[in-house]
Amino acid sequence: LPTIKDPIMNIHEYQGKSILQAHGVAVQEGFLAETAEQAQLVAEELRKKFGTEIFVIKAQIHAGGRGKGGGVKIARSPAEAAEVASKMLGMTLVTPQTGPAGKMVRKVLVARDVYYKGESDIREFYMSVLLDRKRSAYVIMYSTEGGMDIEEVADKMPQAIFSEVIDSTCCLHDFQIRTIAFNLGLKGKAWKEMTLFIRGLWDAFIASDASLMEINPLLKTSDDLILAVDCKVALDDNSLFRHPELAAMRDLNEEDPTEVEATNNNLNYVKLDGDVGCMVNGAGLAMATMDLIQLSGGKPANFLDVGGGANAKTVEAGFRIILKDPNVKAILVNIFGGIVRCDRVAAGIIEAYKTIGDIQVPVIVRLQGTNATEAKVLIDSSGLKVIAASTFTDAAEKVRAAVRG
Ligand code: GDP
Ligand code: MN
Repeated sequence: LPTIKDPIMNIHEYQGKSILQAHGVAVQEGFLAETAEQAQLVAEELRKKFGTEIFVIKAQIHAGGRGKGGGVKIARSPAEAAEVASKMLGMTLVTPQTGPAGKMVRKVLVARDVYYKGESDIREFYMSVLLDRKRSAYVIMYSTEGGMDIEEVADKMPQAIFSEVIDSTCCLHDFQIRTIAFNLGLKGKAWKEMTLFIRGLWDAFIASDASLMEINPLLKTSDDLILAVDCKVALDDNSLFRHPELAAMRDLNEEDPTEVEATNNNLNYVKLDGDVGCMVNGAGLAMATMDLIQLSGGKPANFLDVGGGANAKTVEAGFRIILKDPNVKAILVNIFGGIVRCDRVAAGIIEAYKTIGDIQVPVIVRLQGTNATEAKVLIDSSGLKVIAASTFTDAAEKVRAAVRG
């Protein structure tokens, strides 16, 4: 099932739907609203366009399960749409996917109701396109049981989940599309609409360098249209340089503030769940340092590569970011001065120490390479609670003492 560990950028449902629409894929139409007044205007617009009197107000957050958490609500007039939107906007929505802290709702999507004839003649499917690393191929995963969590379907009726593996030397074949539409039990117009939907979904997936496009529910309406009611999209971070219009969809409100701050300071930071923070230059040395921490009886609290151009400013930003983590009991700074001069890094550490103020945890510093001796003198004479270490073993012992103490 889709678990994404690669660098990805998530986007909102309304943005995902706009990508689909640009590739001719039919979606449950709607527009974004950031105020109750806008929600009312959108509903009036949808009424004019579709003659509908029922609207769906959907919280736009980077998490699913909104229906279960009260983030998807029906309104029976434009005035009611405004009322529902005003309650939803600004609320902290907790769903099975947000964690207990929930997520603040800043925007809602006001959509037209597409379940217009109630239960009769409607079907909810599941469909996703994703990269399957085990098979080294893209896969279209689909199921007759849409609407509920696909994990739940996998658990209770794994036989209801199908997948179509895409030939990586070629493309998605028409016969595969027909197979999917048949397996979903469709006929006539709905079957034809489904084949168009799948082709468009695949085109949208490839054209946007996505890692995942998941449509749940994928609806067959009572008049045999096939519509994306929901849309979850994860884009490949590494491809964003060639899609400025997609890169612009990034919503920093939805991302981990610490990681955003690190990116803004050109730091390569990954949060981990250990107790020893570390700041290192170069990814290789950073990995070795994490091993060292582990060997000393600690657990790395993060990966942090300050890069080749470490200076007082990056060192300070690094300290600030590491110290935001309440689990950190000690910090190990391990810098090899090749291009960077150790005395400059030492000056940066002392500077950061003074500006941040009141650093409670012991900081063990190992500076080796260009001007290491001068750096050690600076650290030792600074009068700060900084512990200088010279060798790797020395650093390990000092980390061990700090973690135990
Ligand atoms: P999620 O809970 O975050 O996955 O949000 P979805 O977009 O999947 O919506 C949740 C549920 O709301 C869907 O499974 C539908 O049952 C319901 N829903 C969505 N759109 C409509 C609609 O137009 N009319 C009605 N009656 N229900 C809808
Ligand atoms: Mn959904």
